[in-house]
Amino acid sequence: MNATRTVRLFDLADGMSSISAVLPSVQAHGIFNRLTQQARALKDFRAGRSDYGTKEHDQPVDDPRTTDQIRADMFSDMLLTSVPSLDPLAGDDCGGLGAIKAIVQVTVPATTLAGTSSTPADLSGLSLVDPETARRLAGTAPGWDRVFTRPVTGTVVAVDRYRPSDQLKRQLRARDQHCRFVGCRMPTHRCDIDHTVDAALGGPTHQHNLAHLCRRHHSLKHVSKWSVKQRGDGVLEWTSPTGRRYTDKPPGVAFEPDSIDYSTHSTSRLPYCGE
Ligand SMILES: [Zn+2]
Repeated sequence: MNATRTVRLFDLADGMSSISAVLPSVQAHGIFNRLTQQARALKDFRAGRSDYGTKEHDQPVDDPRTTDQIRADMFSDMLLTSVPSLDPLAGDDCGGLGAIKAIVQVTVPATTLAGTSSTPADLSGLSLVDPETARRLAGTAPGWDRVFTRPVTGTVVAVDRYRPSDQLKRQLRARDQHCRFVGCRMPTHRCDIDHTVDAALGGPTHQHNLAHLCRRHHSLKHVSKWSVKQRGDGVLEWTSPTGRRYTDKPPGVAFEPDSIDYSTHSTSRLPYCGE
């Protein structure tokens, strides 16, 4: 077979890349022809013009994609999910090659995930990813690493692994109800779930090591001399840069008023990187 066959990847503008393969002509034309036939068949099927002999379908739906677009979707779909017949280990089960999953490294700004900005995500520093795709990837990923960086310089301050279960998230939302920095009442749906002791330092993904922090106080914890410990039952003990301690009890725990003067410790006066 021709030794010049190859696959090439080119990054283009607007979050697009081109992947091309140099193949023997018979294979290349065969691949393109199959994609075209599949795209046309799917379009006809969805429009109710054909059932391609396999399955009853409900109501015809108008597929707004062009044949070109469907062909591109099919191309991705098959390359990302199907099992190669060349796999020497393939038998009744998919072999080792079929078990290899695609990996992409996408860096998403926290503000984009939170929906408060439309800053594009970044695909390995090579290409941009639109915010909608980035949010979908983050929502379906089984886990991801959070990387905290200093504004402006971009220096990495901390990294942790974010993967609490849905049940644990519900439990934490009920417990915390809002950001757990002293005096902050930012509701949990606008907060991150923070590992009190970073996962990278061995902190477990467990309710006794997790607490909601709004983005501001999440950053504060990582970039300033404020520190926090968990005292059990969701009680957090914060220590200020000057060594003064503050206890924050979750709303669900009996609360005894203490002497904290919130007005003189308003969040806007706290040291915050970038201010
Ligand atoms: Zn907060």
